[in-house]
Amino acid sequence: MYLYNSASHKKEEFVPNHPDIVKMYTCGPTVYHYAHIGNLRSYIMEDVLEKYLRFLGYNVKRVMNITDVGHLSSDADTGEDKMLKGAKREHKSVMEIARFYTDAFFDDCRKLNIKRPDVVEPATNCIDEYIKIITKLLDTGYAYQAGGNVYFDTSKLKRYYIFNDHNEEDLAVGVREGVEEDANKRNKNDFVLWFTKSKFEDQALKWDSPWGVGYPGWHIECSGISMKHLGEDLDIHCGGIDNAFPHHTNEIAQSESYLGHKWTNFWVHVAHLNTADGKMSKSKGEFLTVSLLEEKGYDPIAYRFFCLQSHYRKSLVFSWENLDNAQKAFEKLIARIAALKPDDGAVDDTVRAEYRAKFIQQMDNDVNTPNGVTMLYDILKAKTNDATKRALLADVDTVLSLSLLEKADALRERNAKAAQSGGGEFAVVAEDGEPDAAVEELIRKRAAAKKAKDFAEADRIRDELKAQGIELTDVPGGAKWKRV
Ligand code: AMP
Ligand code: ZN
Repeated sequence: MYLYNSASHKKEEFVPNHPDIVKMYTCGPTVYHYAHIGNLRSYIMEDVLEKYLRFLGYNVKRVMNITDVGHLSSDADTGEDKMLKGAKREHKSVMEIARFYTDAFFDDCRKLNIKRPDVVEPATNCIDEYIKIITKLLDTGYAYQAGGNVYFDTSKLKRYYIFNDHNEEDLAVGVREGVEEDANKRNKNDFVLWFTKSKFEDQALKWDSPWGVGYPGWHIECSGISMKHLGEDLDIHCGGIDNAFPHHTNEIAQSESYLGHKWTNFWVHVAHLNTADGKMSKSKGEFLTVSLLEEKGYDPIAYRFFCLQSHYRKSLVFSWENLDNAQKAFEKLIARIAALKPDDGAVDDTVRAEYRAKFIQQMDNDVNTPNGVTMLYDILKAKTNDATKRALLADVDTVLSLSLLEKADALRERNAKAAQSGGGEFAVVAEDGEPDAAVEELIRKRAAAKKAKDFAEADRIRDELKAQGIELTDVPGGAKWKRV
């Protein structure tokens, strides 16, 4: 597989460090509020990467943090702790907020078929790890104490900027609301490893440390958690593009200074989901959550489909119209799969192997999900029996996770029930995948005529369709058609 590495700015062949395991780390959510669907775009695409690695036969161990302390309003270590802000907003304790929004996050993930990582670790569980790393960084001169806090000294590094060459403008820099210069810092980009003093003395969570009672900075959390569960090296580290600077840049600085060697091989960054008027936000404009999509009648999996239709390194514009189009296309896809006959002979292993290889060819190219989605249509058009098509769809869906067969089977059952009771939805499926409103209307008229026992009219419409070169097959709960 070739994967784009943000650290080298090119696609590189993916070769794991160890033959028996792929070590993957993902920056998790800051649980002070619901995740917006932009955050969830990152988690969907990371989920696909993990599942694709498993599809290729790798044994993946994936670790994710839950940030429940230390992430300040600005990624540059200023402002109030986001968790404390959340707690004040809702008149609850920080731990109550953390529990509530962690559960809400995993509920959203479940609705979007995002697998739970093998290890999910709250930042507040690993204070000893951070203290161990910070102690060594101080001993080796990479860190210094000032004004009660411990800072990482970026001037000690030969190369600090990894993802951009001294140009923050190149990147979607993490949020910087209300940035104020911290006079304790020796260099502009130095960052806090441990806080004992902050303007916000009411910080709820504090721990004892060699430098006084305080709490960790946000960046050290990911280094500490990753090393606790995955050891001294990583194959892949993921996150949204806004995490590249300063968060991931700082993670590399402190981890490699601590370890004395290279830490992560591949840095994978997911581009942002934006609204037409710019950045997605939890505080401004419409707060786009999975629950909001559901309230408006969208299937969360249609949102996953929408995400997969675009490559993860391209920014994606969200609009209700775009989501409508994705949902419609998804519904049509499911209707076509529902028209496949489940017990249609034996699976043809040669065809199955051929299409699996085609899918791998697409996805091997930097997880090309738009082409992966196109493969679904190619499978439907393949010259093989329905059992083989269903087997292939199931194979591919272990990666794309769109619940294809499950949804198709449920639709077929609904249609069958509706047909039995004589009412409800009547599914019309274009077998070549190109719906035609006029044809569909005639087919529906014929169904209505049959229902009204006007068989002469029903036959007349069938003849009319035949004259147009259209072959019609009645199926439970609907009809399918194709041009012959
Ligand atoms: P947070 O909960 O703010 O720490 O962010 C969780 C994840 O979502 C991180 O990997 C961010 O980089 C990512 N993220 C934030 N905003 C967006 C967005 N608009 N589109 C895609 N990913 C995002
Ligand atoms: Zn992180």
